Amino acid sequence: MAELEKCVECGKVMKDDTHAPYCKACDDKLDKQFDTIEDNVLIFKELLDSEIEILKKFETEDIEEFFKRVYKKFKDDGNLNNESLIVLNKLKSSFNLTESKMGLPQITVIKETKEDKLLKNNQCPGCEKGVQKDFNLCPYCGYRINKDFNSKY
Ligand SMILES: [Zn+2]
Ligand SMILES: [Zn+2]
Repeated sequence: MAELEKCVECGKVMKDDTHAPYCKACDDKLDKQFDTIEDNVLIFKELLDSEIEILKKFETEDIEEFFKRVYKKFKDDGNLNNESLIVLNKLKSSFNLTESKMGLPQITVIKETKEDKLLKNNQCPGCEKGVQKDFNLCPYCGYRINKDFNSKY
């Protein structure tokens, strides 16, 4: 008798013989999480460690496709800035991806600075008080949050 195959995620015995690691329900659930992560990366330019853990349940090819889609979207939208490059670099290093293998040009390596980190946490890099990322200037200390903003005064 063949050994019973269990879902890697929930441990449920699977009756079908597709040899997939996950049962149908878990597969659907993971696919949804994958889509949510992709949205978060595109909208918030953020990739949490918990999200990386979820992505680790997928095949490398899935991650490569994910990377390519996100890269293309950033590029097409003219959003290939430091913030998005940090996310791409994080994704790249977490999954040992290489640009050449994915047919992409070399991605600029950006180190996340203290300033980037504070801004991501909605804190002013100048005084570390709570601010909104879309503020031009910090209302507390006048720090120029939006680097493209030119004060008229
Ligand atoms: Zn399952
Ligand atoms: Zn400030």
